[in-house]
Amino acid sequence: MAKPKLALYWAASCGGCDVAVLDTNEKILDIANLCDIVFWPIAVDFKYHHVEAMADKSIDLCLFNGAVRNSEQEKIAKLLRSKSKVMIAFGSCACFGGIPGMANFTTREDILQRVYVEAPSNSNNDKTIPQVTTKVAEGELDLPELFDTVLTLEQVVPVEYFVPGCPPPVELILKLVDLYATGKLPPPGAVVASDKTCCDECDRIKEEKKITKIFRPHQIIPDTKKCFLEQGIICCGPATRGGCGMRCVKANMPCRGCFGPPPGVIDQGAKMLSALASIYQANDEEGVSRLINEVLDPAGTFYRFGLPDSMLKRKRL
Ligand code: SF4
Ligand code: SF4
Ligand code: SF4
Repeated sequence: MAKPKLALYWAASCGGCDVAVLDTNEKILDIANLCDIVFWPIAVDFKYHHVEAMADKSIDLCLFNGAVRNSEQEKIAKLLRSKSKVMIAFGSCACFGGIPGMANFTTREDILQRVYVEAPSNSNNDKTIPQVTTKVAEGELDLPELFDTVLTLEQVVPVEYFVPGCPPPVELILKLVDLYATGKLPPPGAVVASDKTCCDECDRIKEEKKITKIFRPHQIIPDTKKCFLEQGIICCGPATRGGCGMRCVKANMPCRGCFGPPPGVIDQGAKMLSALASIYQANDEEGVSRLINEVLDPAGTFYRFGLPDSMLKRKRL
């Protein structure tokens, strides 16, 4: 029997999700045994025209990592969608916009200006900014168009499954492979992780105490047995889906929220803000101002992984 065909692609991505697949160590051989890899830019030399030549729906499974923030990534997302039976948003960037999604707090023009003109490491006296088309002696050169708004994969094409994590843990990747191999994939639309929150899966002691001050992780040495939030360190566990094995909390670092919102929560940042407000002792206006001032980067803290997927989606200008 022919092996299922597997495609992997990275769009606006740091590469960590691809490395996570390689991190399956010897299990990568199981994946290779189970599937024929037909496209994987980081590891195998297939070209776009090879994918274009494939019949529609001839790829069984496509793991797409990274957000979509330029015209090339949008084109390949649509191409892979048309060629794939099952499309998987793999990793927090593809699922929720991820770290690249924080670009939605600014604009394309401001980003290009900062990166190509203002950055102190630049030597760009002509203040040249990349253009979509540029005429040169030999003809015309093309570059992908950078979008003003970073998009999740599902905002571009229909997606069957979501595998969160920055990057997804190896155990979850192996679970996905196993579900596929045994024909036990859940109904389309499912998130392949836990249905609980990180707090539900955390074994730190919770004493239901209120806090009066917020600390950044480097400002105190946290007790390894007690809840971070109750020690005044912002931990996004109440607003984050479980299933990661509590990687950060076990390393004595608070959860940053990379698994996205738990079931029933449509805006992870708003949920986290409400969790923080409920534990912070602020009985008067002065207390509320103190709380606001103590969260140094509210946007980055509450929407680090999911701004494009949130109710805000982007900064309104
Ligand atoms: S989810 Fe994390 S590891 Fe994966 S591409 Fe995005 S930033 Fe990198
Ligand atoms: S807030 Fe963080 S430390 Fe506290 S119970 Fe939740 S996940 Fe654990
Ligand atoms: S503890 Fe939070 S930030 Fe860390 S891996 Fe788990 S969900 Fe992601």
